[in-house]
Amino acid sequence: MVIQKGASLHGIAEVLDLLSKKGIEIKSVDWRGRTLLVTHPNPASADLAQLDQATIVERLVISTPRAQLASREFQNEPSIVRVGTADVGGQKLVIIAGPCSVEGREQFLEVARAAKQSGASLLRGGVFKPRTSPYEFQGLGEEGLRLLAEAREETGLPVVTEVLEPERVKLVAKYADMLQIGARNAQNFSLLTAVGRSRMPVLLKRGMMTTIDEWLQAAEYVLVEGNPNVVLCERGIRTFDKVTRNTLDLAAVPVLRKLTHLPILVDPSHATGNRDLVGPMAKAAIAVGADGLMIETHQSPETALSDSQQQLNLSEFADLMEELEPVAKSVGRRIR
Ligand code: PEP
Ligand code: MN
Repeated sequence: MVIQKGASLHGIAEVLDLLSKKGIEIKSVDWRGRTLLVTHPNPASADLAQLDQATIVERLVISTPRAQLASREFQNEPSIVRVGTADVGGQKLVIIAGPCSVEGREQFLEVARAAKQSGASLLRGGVFKPRTSPYEFQGLGEEGLRLLAEAREETGLPVVTEVLEPERVKLVAKYADMLQIGARNAQNFSLLTAVGRSRMPVLLKRGMMTTIDEWLQAAEYVLVEGNPNVVLCERGIRTFDKVTRNTLDLAAVPVLRKLTHLPILVDPSHATGNRDLVGPMAKAAIAVGADGLMIETHQSPETALSDSQQQLNLSEFADLMEELEPVAKSVGRRIR
């Protein structure tokens, strides 16, 4: 339950005291300049009646018990998350493009210019890479962060990049416009708390084994730190079938739409692991109501240092953007 309170705490202090004696957790959250008291679990109706009478309670919301601030009960109106010059969740779809990894200055700037040219609204590029093997390319680190900032400077596109550890949140936030939490860290709770405290926009990918309920609770870790700027990104889950890298759960989009006000993106690149499938699934994602896409692009995917099978080359990406336009239009959205 979420209690939105007025200027003073005194009027409801007794009731809160009573609730905490009953073992109900109460957390105070600074939310868009207001103070919220979030209880877990929801109190019994007799206690609620008392709270309802407390004169300085502005609003009581009975919400999904575990993911409260993320819920539609708390906020029915869809959230729009501003990332630099881009709005995620508005009528215009947000297309995030860029290479899996930033590999060097010329490589990244070329992809960045092409992304801008084709109409992408955000730029991606991994510099701290969560690789399965310790012998694989781990990313350029801080040097890569500087290249992200340089590309933003040149193209005007805001940049999103992954952060792997709580200790590096400040460093990455210095350069990036949005912090990505990758699938492998989707339930790294200290990392979620750290990006929550940063108040930066957060792109929260679904974990490979994360249920929708668990995913929303992961988002709640960010929200409860008073950071409302969370965007969800479906990127496929592990199933028995290895014909694709992961199984894209497209139903997650309309399911989440019912449960949460947070914007929802789809990443058909990591979901399929196969460049031939990126276009069809990108169109499908828009058709089921996604707020945008993350698509990996590279000037020479075959020689890319990571995810070479799934990246689109620059002209394939340009063509895809053209093909997406009528699909977006058919669901009342646009991509440019
Ligand atoms: C990525 O987007 O760079 C990435 C590693 O994706 P995921 O966390 O979805 O595997
Ligand atoms: Mn990748």
